[in-house]
Amino acid sequence: MSTTLPWTSHRMLMRQAIIQADVENTSPLRIGSGREAPLGSQVDLAVLRIHRNGRDEPYIPGSSLKGVFRSVGEAMARAEKKLEVCSGLTRSTCMDTKQVEETRLRELVERRLRLNEVEAAVKLFHQHACLMCKVFGAPSYGAHVYFGDAT
Ligand SMILES: [Zn+2]
Repeated sequence: MSTTLPWTSHRMLMRQAIIQADVENTSPLRIGSGREAPLGSQVDLAVLRIHRNGRDEPYIPGSSLKGVFRSVGEAMARAEKKLEVCSGLTRSTCMDTKQVEETRLRELVERRLRLNEVEAAVKLFHQHACLMCKVFGAPSYGAHVYFGDAT
């Protein structure tokens, strides 16, 4: 295996930017836990909470924030840059929808990865995936951005 893998393989960190921000709700926001509220609760639908600093606090998962950023990025890419980008939704990413010589991109990439041909897999992905998949990730391809939880 080569020691000079391209940075897109995620095996080499060449640049890092850490952005911290304060989030302020200007309108009501509810992120449900997907579970029933505990008995005696004043609400029907439980709010997602995390145990932090000795108490349960509501929070916004990093995955939810990432979804918002991806969605806004898609709209900007389409409107301002006239780029063709996928929705990123399950089974609708470039890995699922792009065909290369009548084979799904996902199958071609996974085939390369099974053969440990990482550079070839990354090259295939970068030739055929949209900008949003390259930045925010897709099946079998990690994201280049990470969003932490907002507490
Ligand atoms: Zn895509």
